[in-house]
Amino acid sequence: MPTVGELQELLREVSLRVTRPRVAVLAAVYGYPHADTDSIIGAVRNELPDVSHQAVYDSLHTLTAAGLVRRIQPLGSVARYESRVGDNHHHAVCRSCGAIADVDCAVGHAPCLTASEDHGFVIDEAEVIYWGLCADCSRRT
Ligand SMILES: [Zn+2]
Ligand SMILES: [Zn+2]
Repeated sequence: MPTVGELQELLREVSLRVTRPRVAVLAAVYGYPHADTDSIIGAVRNELPDVSHQAVYDSLHTLTAAGLVRRIQPLGSVARYESRVGDNHHHAVCRSCGAIADVDCAVGHAPCLTASEDHGFVIDEAEVIYWGLCADCSRRT
C-alpha cells in the first residue's frame, strides 16, 4: 500500500491538484482492487465522513482520465476500479458471484495490444475477460 505521501506524489506526477477526496479515493482503489463505486464511497467515508457521492464520482473520473486508475466494466457488472494500470492485464470473472481476479498476459508485454487486423483503428487497449466460476462457486456446484 502506498503511503499518503506517495499517493500525493502520484497526483503531482500527472499534474493533478492534490485534494483530500482524490487522495482518499486513490487510497481506496489501492486498498480494494476491482471495487465498485459504492464500496469506494464506503471506504473513502471511513477517512472523510463528509465527502459527497459527487466528489467521489468526480475523483474517480479525474483519476481514470489521468491514467492513475483503470476502470473496467464486465458485462452485467457495475464499473470497477483498480490501481494496476498500464500493463493491459486481463480479468477472470465469476458468472455466479461476480468475483474478479487479475490474469497476466500469457506471454511478453501486452501482446494482445497487437491485433491481428486493426481495421485502421489506433488501438490503445485490449480487453480480454475470461468468464467462468471462481474456486468457491465451483466447489459449491
Ligand atoms: Zn464465484
Ligand atoms: Zn485487475
